[in-house]
Amino acid sequence: MVRYYCPFCNPKYQFQTQSSKGNLICGLCGEDLVKKPFIRWNQIIALVAASSLLLPLIYTFIFLIKNQINPPNKNYQANNSIMKIIKEKI
Ligand SMILES: [Zn+2]
Repeated sequence: MVRYYCPFCNPKYQFQTQSSKGNLICGLCGEDLVKKPFIRWNQIIALVAASSLLLPLIYTFIFLIKNQINPPNKNYQANNSIMKIIKEKI
């Protein structure tokens, strides 16, 4: 579906009319209508910019909630059984 719009008029008050030649013109100013692309480049750029700000925030929140539910093991000393195995090998 290709949509047309007038680049000069307010999009709220636009209506299409057909000229005598058969092409679509703006009902307010009589200018030729421009095809509206389905996805615009500035939309993609805005999406990337917004996600680059929001994704790290969401990521940290997920980790915060995950650590609240399952607190990480704070025992930083090496596991005793592993140390024994290492000592036996040496
Ligand atoms: Zn117009």
